Amino acid sequence: MKRYCVSACLLGVPCRWKGDAKPCEAVQRLADAPDVELVPFCPELAADLGCPRPPIELVREAPGAPVRVLRVDRQGDATDALRAACEAEADELARTGGVDAFILKSRSPSCGLSSPLHDPSGRETGTAPGLWAALARERFPAASFRDETDPLA
Ligand code: SF4
Repeated sequence: MKRYCVSACLLGVPCRWKGDAKPCEAVQRLADAPDVELVPFCPELAADLGCPRPPIELVREAPGAPVRVLRVDRQGDATDALRAACEAEADELARTGGVDAFILKSRSPSCGLSSPLHDPSGRETGTAPGLWAALARERFPAASFRDETDPLA
């Protein structure tokens, strides 16, 4: 049995910041595969950011500074709450048998494998992995990482 951890919004869970989902047919089809267990996870819901919630983005506040996850309106910093929620999920996944693959929502500041990175003014300056994508890669280096543009068949 393969075990895939999937961004919950790709499975139709209405957990995005606007309160909607982003269902992906190819990902949803995996739910019917007899040899696959899907583990849905939404880092932003797990971090109690609410739903709907103010949008967040990846920000590097100064050259060389660590990437943080800030509200687009700069009225809050979700980094620590997200990191705690993601560490807890990684611990749980490891405890319950590990993960063969992650299928993550592209461009999300939490889930994206390569998401827009901003300066403090909100200007896009490049790309960086979302917080969950980065942490999951560290914790599960042998797993495969995909997004909904290239899900596992
Ligand atoms: S992209 Fe990730 S954090 Fe955003 S709604 Fe989907 S599962 Fe949640």
